[in-house]
Formats: sequence, structure tokens, C-alpha cells
Amino acid sequence: MRSASQVQILSPAPLFQLADGIEFVFAILKYGMRFVGNPSRGSRAVKGAAFRSLCVVLRRFKSCPLHHLILPAAEHFPDMPPPLTVEEQDDQSAGGMSALKVTSIIVCACVVLAGLGGVYIYSVIKDLGDTYEEDIMEDFKNSWPVTWPNSTYVVDDIETLSDFGYRKIDTVAHANAGDFIEFRFNDLGYEVEVQEFTTELCDDCRNYIATMEGQNPDSWIVVGGHYDAICYSQQIIIGIEYPGCTSEGAYDDATGSASVLELARLMMEWQSDGAEWQSIPGTPQIDIRPTHTWKFAVWDYEEWQGSGSPEGAGYGSETFVTTLPEDVEIATYINLDMYGLNWPVETQLASQLSGCDEDYFHLYLFTSPVDDWSYYEDRGLNVTDEMREQAGALQDRLGMVLHEQLQYPTEWVVVMDDTKGNSDHYNFISRGWPATWFRGMHEFLQEEDDTCEQSPKHAPTDRVDVLYSLAGGREGLEEGMQTGLNALALLMWSDITGNWV
Ligand SMILES: [Zn+2]
Repeated sequence: MRSASQVQILSPAPLFQLADGIEFVFAILKYGMRFVGNPSRGSRAVKGAAFRSLCVVLRRFKSCPLHHLILPAAEHFPDMPPPLTVEEQDDQSAGGMSALKVTSIIVCACVVLAGLGGVYIYSVIKDLGDTYEEDIMEDFKNSWPVTWPNSTYVVDDIETLSDFGYRKIDTVAHANAGDFIEFRFNDLGYEVEVQEFTTELCDDCRNYIATMEGQNPDSWIVVGGHYDAICYSQQIIIGIEYPGCTSEGAYDDATGSASVLELARLMMEWQSDGAEWQSIPGTPQIDIRPTHTWKFAVWDYEEWQGSGSPEGAGYGSETFVTTLPEDVEIATYINLDMYGLNWPVETQLASQLSGCDEDYFHLYLFTSPVDDWSYYEDRGLNVTDEMREQAGALQDRLGMVLHEQLQYPTEWVVVMDDTKGNSDHYNFISRGWPATWFRGMHEFLQEEDDTCEQSPKHAPTDRVDVLYSLAGGREGLEEGMQTGLNALALLMWSDITGNWV
């Protein structure tokens, strides 16, 4: 016979049943999550927790069939009477299954089904979430830049740099241009490293370097152009600084300096847009930092100071490569010096009429040699297998971006061995680092009797208005700049998506 107290226990308040059911479902979900997250560790936990919770519920009805398998629920509910013995249970069943017992079994079954359903739904949602995250990662890896460089900004900066006047080292125009570059980097949100150095001819030379730190702080990709300018005779005897010879250095090398500023701006924009996107709850947390650390450098004293000079050239970039912190390697150096007059800028009619048979200006990428290292070997470089390998990899990478991704015509946009070393990339290659030089020009230099009008260099004609007339207007120059800028943007983006290993 049932005692009064037993009846009381066998008739739990509905609220208690509900609370126990909820507890059970949550236990299943909680351990189900662990199970889905780590099946090998979670499976036992699931069973244990499920049985434990199930029994807590069942024992409220004094009919737990599993109580001998699991922890006594009484430990958790000390004021609960001990379970009935088998005989007592038999006694109870002798009178036939009570309505209450049937109800309790139905309730238990519902709770179990709800729990299992919960686990199932959770694992389906989790799978969907995982697939979604993997899809996003895959899409990101194969994505194109979210935004592209703006050649209008670049041409604006070319105009500003040209307006400072003749930026010969140690002049007011030169110092003002340097201050402007520092201001622009600061304005973009960078802390600028000003690398001061002196030489016999330069008392106050300064490189300006902005850093976007990547996942690897010790492997750098450096993009550079130079802001100093020079003017001297171009014919017969090259390098005589005749009176009144001044150059705005619009092509050489406001084009490169302004491009470095634009690439730094774009990198900063990608990083801040990415951070904003990731702050949205539920967004997959992808590391949007570049793999390498990027150095945006505007060099000083690239130009040879003419035939009377006791010094050579390239002192800004040389200062940089000779003062690298220990343990730092240069993954690649990209030199931007005189480009923009290149495909799709057409050869102007006057030039064609005078016999130039090239339809467009070329964009050349003079790159660490795959075949011909003679220029560097002649200057004492011991070319190692690693250098050859890196040169091959860089030429392949550039070819992939230019000709496969951007589908530029191979006739007009050309990756080739650097055999002249004529700019800041020389300092990198000659110290064993892979490098490339973006250079827009006609095929032959004037010394080869070519009639194509060459891009201005080291001469009073190196002015913005001359660039516009050679490019068929400001728009033409912007289009030419965009060719190189888009390739540079893809190179930067490939480092953010983890494709530049
Ligand atoms: Zn130059």
C-alpha cells in the first residue's frame, strides 16, 4: 500500500515536471554541444549527462529504471526519499499501471524526444554554421580586392609634388616635399619612421617609411619610390648641370612617390573596413592582416648628382637595406620609378608620324633575373640557388597577376630580367633580396636610335603638362597609372588572403 508521503512524491507539482524537463533538455544540449565539438571526448559525457538528468526526472516519479546505472539522484536532492526497492515496485505494479504512471512515462518520453530533437537540431545548425564559415574562408581566399586604388588621387599627388619645384637634395623644395609626404602618411593613420642620413653631398637627407604590420613582423614586403629630383644635360655629354636646369620630377619620380602613398591609403582602408566588418556579431573571425609586414617607403637621394659628383646614387634605399634589424628578411621589394606612361597609353600621333611604330607605351617589370645575372655578377654578387629560386617565383607571381588575373596583353606589359639595375631596386637585388621595378616607357632608349618619344627624365621637360600631352590628357595618365596600381593592389590583396606564402 502506498503511504501518504509516497503519494505526495508520486504527484509532483506540474511546475516541477516542467523544470525537470527543461533541465534535461538543456543537459542534452550542453553535452551534445561538447559531443559535436569533440566526439571522442563528448560521447561518454552525453550518455552520462542524459541518463543522469533523465533519472532525476524519473525518480521524481519513483520509477527510474536506470537508477542502478547512474549516480544516485538523491545526492543532488538530499531531501528526496530513497528509491523504492524492487519488491516495493512490484507491489505497486501488482495493482496494474496507474494513470499517473502512464502519464509520467508519456511525459518522460516527450522529454527524451525533445532532448534528442534538440541535440539533432543543434548539430544540424552547428554543421550549417561550420559549412558557412568554411565557405566564407574559401570565398575570402579566392576573392578580389574589396576596393581598388584610385589613380585620380595619385595624379593629384603628382601635381602637388611637382608644384614644390625642383626637389634636388638639400633644397627648400626638397624639404617641403619631404614634410608633405610625412604629413600624408600621418593623415592616413600611420606612424612614420623618418630615417635621417647624411652623405658627402647631402646634409639633410630623409627617408619616410610607413609600416603596416602583418602576421609575420620579420618578413617584409617593401614598396618604394623616391622624391628627390635631378636635372642635367641629356645629349652628347650626359650629366652636366647647366645654369637654369630645373626639373619638377613629375615622372621621375613623383609618379612612384604618389603611388606609394595611395597603396598605403588602400592598405589602411582594407584594414579598417575589415575590422568594422568583423565587429558585426556572428561574423567569422578571419585574420585580415597581411601575412608579411608591409613597408611603404619614400626614398631620398636616389639620383646621381651629375658629372661633377664625387658620389654615386641610391643612398636612401641603401641606408634602408644596410640598417635592417637583425632577423628581418625582405620577401620582395617593389620599386616604382617612372611609370604611368604605359599601356593603355597610346603613342601620340606626332610621335607616330615621326616614325615610332609602337602603338602603346610599354609597362616593363624589370625583375630579379631568371637567366641573365651578368649585371649583378659583374658588380660582385655571388648568385645563390636560393636567389635564382626566388627570382623565378617572383617572375611567376607577377606574370600570374598581370597576364592571368588582369589579362593584360603580354606584348605591352612585360616581365623581364633586370639587366641594368638603374634604380633603387639595385640595392635590394645586390644584397640578395628579390625585387622588381615598374617602369613605363617605349621599347628602346634614345641611344638606340629609336624615334619613339621617350618619357621625360632628368630634364626640364619632366613636368606634369608634358606627361599629360604624352598621355593624351590627364585621363590618359590616370589610365596608365591604373594599370600598375591594379597589379599592385592584387599583389597586396594576395598577401591578405594568405596567397603570398
Ligand atoms: Zn628615378
